[in-house]
Amino acid sequence: MDYGLLWFLLPLAAWSGWFAARRGFASQTGNHARRLSPDYLRGLDYLLNEQPDKAIDVFIRLIDVDSDTVETHLALGALYRRRGEVNRAIRIHQNLIKISRLNSQQKALATLELGLDYQRAGLLDRAENLFQELVQVPSYRGLAYRQLLDIYQQEQDWEKAIRTAWDLSKQSGDNLKPIIAHYYCEQAEAFQRKGNIEQTRRFLETALNIDPNCVRASLTTGYLMLSQNEDFLEIIDVFQRVEKQNPLFIPEIIQPLETCYQHLDQLNEFTAYLQHILKDYGGIAPLLALTQRIREQKDEQQAALFIIQQLQNTPSLKGLAHFIDLTLNQTKETEQYPLSLVKEIIVKLLKTYPFYRCKECGFSGKTLHWQCPSCKQWNTILPLQN
Ligand SMILES: [Zn+2]
Repeated sequence: MDYGLLWFLLPLAAWSGWFAARRGFASQTGNHARRLSPDYLRGLDYLLNEQPDKAIDVFIRLIDVDSDTVETHLALGALYRRRGEVNRAIRIHQNLIKISRLNSQQKALATLELGLDYQRAGLLDRAENLFQELVQVPSYRGLAYRQLLDIYQQEQDWEKAIRTAWDLSKQSGDNLKPIIAHYYCEQAEAFQRKGNIEQTRRFLETALNIDPNCVRASLTTGYLMLSQNEDFLEIIDVFQRVEKQNPLFIPEIIQPLETCYQHLDQLNEFTAYLQHILKDYGGIAPLLALTQRIREQKDEQQAALFIIQQLQNTPSLKGLAHFIDLTLNQTKETEQYPLSLVKEIIVKLLKTYPFYRCKECGFSGKTLHWQCPSCKQWNTILPLQN
């Protein structure tokens, strides 16, 4: 038997038990006893024989005469949605909503379920309308805001998402500022794609005002300023903010900072900054950059010595490949082959490694996403130290 059906049969069994008990009590007290409807049993029979549409027809007819079964209808509808049979779920919930005898809580629950059906079916406009209705019901307001937020994110309607997130944070007390800042960044990036630099800047500033720790706003501002050839000292300030906002994102700022210091012809300052970063936070990205600086300022031998000492404390395949590169030129030709072979293997291994991972669901990849494509949470994907 289909295990999914158990989900439906369990509440039904509970309901039948309650009904039987009530009937027993009724006959004891001499009241007129109600009987389990034969139609209901027929519906159940259809359901067990894998004829769900016939079963639904029976149940839908039945609900008009027996409002005791509202909860069972809700359970059946939710079950169909969970199984991906959204059209059946929609039929059941649409029919429920039409019934005038529903109390306000039942009506709200049926509206929520139908909204979820529409959302699952990709009918986002219809879902949005129902959740807007539900916002008026105090006990469902928070849930409705969350579903609306989900819809606006899917539609990339950031203005509505911002309004709804403020409403939700007022209603629930949750701090949604870091997420709202991302919505402003999304808008900023849309303006940037259209070439509207002024608006891009305005929205990035708003993002930072709302969430001063918004790494994304700093990185996007920094790259925007780079593309506009703005003052390199100011750009350095923007990228270096990331260190205080979230040091886990330091690997993202090494390369653009190097570009800035190069333009200013101040690579010694860059070396000093890398030394500070490595001392305070560690990490492979600053280590590799610093090794490269030693190679340019001194020689390959000293760079190799520096990196291999550091790798004792911070083992890294990338670092090892770098070390082999540095030693190859100083190695006798006969010994070069096995070394370069080891490097080739490491490079092959590294190609299979992700650069980023979601701390919530484990999703990993080579691209930085601000909203996890898998669990849809914001700010959960972090750079990895390889
Ligand atoms: Zn995730």
